[in-house]
Amino acid sequence: MLSSRLFWKIFGTYAALTLVAALSFVAIQSSRQREIVIEQAQQRLHDSAVILRSRMADSFEKGQTAELQQTLVQLGKQNGTRLTLVTEDGTVIGDSAESPEVMDNHNNREELRLARTSGFGVSQRQSPTLDLPMLNYALRVDQGEQVVGFVRVSMTVKALNAQVDSVQRLIWVTAMTVSIVALVLTYFVVGRLIRPLILLTQSAEAIADGDLRQQVVIPSRDELGALAGAFNLMSQKLSMQIDELHQKSAELAKNSERLETVLGGMVEGVIAVDGDERVLFVNQAANSLLEISTPEIVGRPIWEAVRNPAIQKVVKSALESKGQENIELEIPRSEAIVSLLAAQLPGDPCPGVVLVFHDVTDLRRLENIRQEFVSNVSHELKTPLTSIQAYAETLLSGAIDDPDHNRKFLKGIEEQATRLHALILDLLRISRIESGADTFEVSTVPLVETVELCIREHAAICNTKSIQLSMQTHTGEIYVLADPEGLQTILNNLIDNAINYTPSGGQVSVDWAVQNSMVSIKVKDTGIGIPKDHQKRVFERFYRVDKARSREMGGTGLGLSIVKHLAQEFGGEAEVNSEPGQGSTFTVRLPLAQNEKKLGFQKIQAAND
Ligand code: ADP
Repeated sequence: MLSSRLFWKIFGTYAALTLVAALSFVAIQSSRQREIVIEQAQQRLHDSAVILRSRMADSFEKGQTAELQQTLVQLGKQNGTRLTLVTEDGTVIGDSAESPEVMDNHNNREELRLARTSGFGVSQRQSPTLDLPMLNYALRVDQGEQVVGFVRVSMTVKALNAQVDSVQRLIWVTAMTVSIVALVLTYFVVGRLIRPLILLTQSAEAIADGDLRQQVVIPSRDELGALAGAFNLMSQKLSMQIDELHQKSAELAKNSERLETVLGGMVEGVIAVDGDERVLFVNQAANSLLEISTPEIVGRPIWEAVRNPAIQKVVKSALESKGQENIELEIPRSEAIVSLLAAQLPGDPCPGVVLVFHDVTDLRRLENIRQEFVSNVSHELKTPLTSIQAYAETLLSGAIDDPDHNRKFLKGIEEQATRLHALILDLLRISRIESGADTFEVSTVPLVETVELCIREHAAICNTKSIQLSMQTHTGEIYVLADPEGLQTILNNLIDNAINYTPSGGQVSVDWAVQNSMVSIKVKDTGIGIPKDHQKRVFERFYRVDKARSREMGGTGLGLSIVKHLAQEFGGEAEVNSEPGQGSTFTVRLPLAQNEKKLGFQKIQAAND
């Protein structure tokens, strides 16, 4: 409480008022008391002078006598005053304090001069005889019309002052006592007023510091008690509301965390911007899809981070219009095709827009591939069918009866039908591999045995074409992880091609080597080779270096594509190395079967039997 400024303000004001009142009281009472004492003293001197005048009226005729002097001394002692008798001419004939002989003429004394004119005179002055400050009262003594002298009664001012001093002391003591009592009472009264205010202030400060369970106990029933009650109610309500707010904000934080996790895990890129086009949120997918390199993008304008005019335009129009904006755009650096959907965030006025980016590069590529594939297949099918149609029409228009040519036309129909059949078989195979419908039983397959089998199958054609077909001399079996039929298809396709694109007198060989956990199988020929810029593309479907030659050879343009897909299915890969005019080497890498049980070979033989 003593540290309360309000307390000291109120208490100080009261104390100052009390002090001023006490001092005023002392000052007024002191001067009044002095007047009263002097009045009383004058009255006493007056009364004594009247008595003295009545008793000593005869003495003025007799003049100075020893008897008079003695009487005055006695009376003076009894009365406690100084008594003086002075004749009309100012001669002192008797004095209770001094011998009249030594006293000078008193005509010029102030009190006597006043008494001469007005009957009595009062003066307060230093007595030249006694050398003391005296209060003098003089009365004129008349006989008939004639002034005969004066009686004077005096008393020392010292006695008067002592009396005044004692009264003043009493006034001071009274004033001080009353002041102290008043101050003590003020202290307690102000304290009673201030204490509840201090309690309220402390509680309010505690609430401001976060301690909401503050209750102030003020038992009084006055306005302060009511204030404390209202304060307690307010702090209770505040505490409840803040608890509710905490709960709500915790829920909100949880929800936004969940939302961020969901948005963060989305494949689609999501960016939210506010009405000023400043980024509110961006997920990881959007960062990588749009290649945003700006750090701390949240809070910055979107055009600072995403320098794509199309996106900026969509943001602007989405902010202005209520509907959704949908465009497809290309990201220049990554060449990705992105579908962008922009929609306004709910709220009025519009708080911003959300942008959803969907990478449709693969979708568009697949669509292109599909379109290309359909047109390629149609084209590939159309060629033999047109030939068959032409042969049939020619036969029908009479050639059937021409014994020289009819067999040739029929042979042509058979060839085209065979080609068509091969094409359809290859198409079916590749579509099954690609769609995953062809389930392969990957097991340990003996490589050397499979190569020997394939070489045996191609021996006749090599003889016809005078091509030397050989395989690496070997000391033992090597097992690869593959499907037995699939491995055979790979080897047959590669050996077929090598024989087809190698002129008579050339050589075709099959080698293998173990490298770490893989087996590299090489089919090498000394044929026409493949130009460098075509080498990358020969594994594509329907890709041919020389279309006419391929068709002439009965090729479908799908052989190498099947090889690549099968190798990949078995966990391997295929590649080509070729020098035009020198020959080509096709390499297929397949996983080496190390500890697996070697079962595959029996299966292959069974399939071939
Ligand atoms: P195709 O049925 O036409 O042979 P492939 O997919 O097997 O189809 O081969 C694609 C193309 O690759 C061939 O048309 C040919 O131009 C080229 N090619 C494949 N193997 C060889 C090879 N051993 N020597 C030269 N060119 C080859």
